[in-house]
Amino acid sequence: MKPFLSKAALLALSIMPFTAMASHWSYEGEGSPEHWGSLNEEYKTCQAGMNQSPINIDTTLKAHISPLSIHYSDGPITLLNNGHTIQAGLKNTTADTVSIDGVPFTLQQFHFHSPSENTIHGKHYAMEMHLVHKDAKGAVAVVAVMFDKGAANSELEKLWATMPEKAEQDVKITVQMDLNALLPKSKTYWRFSGSLTTPPCSEGVTWIVLKHPLTLSTAQLEKFTHTMHHDNSRPTQPLNGRVVVE
Ligand SMILES: [Zn+2]
Repeated sequence: MKPFLSKAALLALSIMPFTAMASHWSYEGEGSPEHWGSLNEEYKTCQAGMNQSPINIDTTLKAHISPLSIHYSDGPITLLNNGHTIQAGLKNTTADTVSIDGVPFTLQQFHFHSPSENTIHGKHYAMEMHLVHKDAKGAVAVVAVMFDKGAANSELEKLWATMPEKAEQDVKITVQMDLNALLPKSKTYWRFSGSLTTPPCSEGVTWIVLKHPLTLSTAQLEKFTHTMHHDNSRPTQPLNGRVVVE
């Protein structure tokens, strides 16, 4: 034993193997989505849960839900490649919020999946962005935006310009970004109850999927998929009686 290792370093070494095991989920091979529930006790909801995401949005209930109230004023400041996705981080403020049933939810981070995780009438979009919010009690709401292949997205280009190529790379974003430019003008949406789409697949998540897709160019899509090396989408999950409202 090296006597100069601090107590903290020894503790870190001793818990590292377990941390590594717990994060051994992926989108291919032994750690692929159909195995998530049995990889770790903490992931069992991925298998046993009855309100899992993503879903195929097909039959919906027209409930005349109120227009989505989004107030984003701060752009992201960091961009992380965590090996599972490219994730943008924000300042720890309440500058970016979405109001759901009168309750403010603050934006925590946003990230991307390709192809899309949720499908519309069985159709996968080229990419899906998840804007992850939390309210004061810790409840989670995700606003999802679809991307079709088409014209390049100039706001996305600002993010993509600093995309970390290697896993566990975290870079600072220096360019000013307007998050509103990463949202469609029309904010009509589908709403349903679901879960996180990655382990631990926790349920009780409010899903807001915007109906109007944005576009990104083939080059922008390829930059993402090449950086990820593989698809990063969980297959759609059974509805088990859940209703999608619009
Ligand atoms: Zn996601």
